[in-house]
Amino acid sequence: MLKIGLTGGIGSGKTTVAKVFETLGIPVYYADAATKRLMQTNAGLKEAIRKNFGEASFKNDKLDTKYLADIVFNDTEKLSLLNALTHPVVIDDAMQWMLQQQAPYAIKEAALIFEAGIEQYLDYVIGVQAPLALRMERVIQRDKVSMREVQKRNAQQMDEAAKMKRCNFIITNDEESLVVPQVLAIHEKLLQL
Ligand code: ATP
Repeated sequence: MLKIGLTGGIGSGKTTVAKVFETLGIPVYYADAATKRLMQTNAGLKEAIRKNFGEASFKNDKLDTKYLADIVFNDTEKLSLLNALTHPVVIDDAMQWMLQQQAPYAIKEAALIFEAGIEQYLDYVIGVQAPLALRMERVIQRDKVSMREVQKRNAQQMDEAAKMKRCNFIITNDEESLVVPQVLAIHEKLLQL
């Protein structure tokens, strides 16, 4: 079974595109949701977070996401540290999940694939691209956050053009190009590989 990555910049529409693949019967692993789950359930990871970010990272054994977000989104080194702790656990969990899937291919949807060197575990990577202004607008609307906040998060990711250059397939989600036919074309290609 092929292991496929699905990535793109903040607000590009990765999750939206992943849902389209799901309608075709393709299993999708959502790295963001998995990370949140594993930070709550993986004993080794919880311990590492407590050790590196303080006891206040957990309130009544529940991850204090606001406390952690305030730290990592204001300090690049702290964000790298959190990623260094979570990535190996999520990579392992995703790989185990992939092995259990019964489908021609399975998708791992993740914002950071090239940034974290995850492409080495995948056969192909699909990129989702959209103009920066539209991506910003989507995230501001969806998360009710400020433009500044989105810019800050975007600055922590690889430049979109550089990311797309490294992808094997690209989907343009600019609300002008139709997404479903692009997904179907890639799906057909992947079934033949
Ligand atoms: P993040 O990087 O924050 O994880 P993402 O890349 O997964 O985001 P989505 O959550 O799929 O992006 O999309 C961002 C927002 O834009 C969502 O509210 C989604 O409903 C909306 N959106 C995405 N694509 C489209 C589209 N083609 N038409 C209309 N709305 C869209």
